[in-house]
Amino acid sequence: MSFKHFDLSDAVLKAVEEKGYNNPTPIQQQSIPQILAGVDVLASAQTGTGKTAAFCIPILQKLSLSKDNRHVRALILVPTRELAIQVCDNLKDYGKYLSLKSTVIFGGVSQFNQERELRKGVDIVVATPGRLLDLLDQNIINLKHLEILVLDEADRMLDMGFIHNIKKLIKVIPATRQNVFFSATVPEEVQDLVSTMLKKPVRISI
Ligand code: AMP
Repeated sequence: MSFKHFDLSDAVLKAVEEKGYNNPTPIQQQSIPQILAGVDVLASAQTGTGKTAAFCIPILQKLSLSKDNRHVRALILVPTRELAIQVCDNLKDYGKYLSLKSTVIFGGVSQFNQERELRKGVDIVVATPGRLLDLLDQNIINLKHLEILVLDEADRMLDMGFIHNIKKLIKVIPATRQNVFFSATVPEEVQDLVSTMLKKPVRISI
């Protein structure tokens, strides 16, 4: 199977090809069509399986189909700053021929540069939950136009105590969004969150 089997634009296919990927990995084969179709997804996949591209590629494809005035339309929550940077780098790679903008938000550093990027306008935000909530409280980020919410490494996020931040966040984002969860394992706490947040999720495991 090749990436050409998915409903992806030439701009996305070219960027993926330039990364040197010949074929989608199993998690990509299963996740990309479902995320493109707009349904909620719960995918269990470990790091190293190609999970990052499994959600970054369809998100870029979907958002590139409609023009928008640089509102945040996709939010990817991750547990650590290292992962946030890595995911944002992936978005920039696969989106290099698109006109979408992505930025990264995490704590432990001054918010000055993150605030400046947000004010310029971005389509996709990759964030750790604590700093994101700080910026929301200060009205520096607006999530009223959010279309897609991703939780990456959901199990690790819950282990790190981010549940309260996630619960606060879902109160201020549109209910009509698409939800995508990636988690290495699906313990009870993740399952509980899935039951409250996801609508008839398609379950994918590799
Ligand atoms: P991840 O599981 O997202 O951390 O990805 C693990 C590694 O696999 C990264 O170095 C990716 O660049 C690489 N990768 C992702 N998708 C593919 C693919 N379809 N073919 C080859 N390598 C890939």
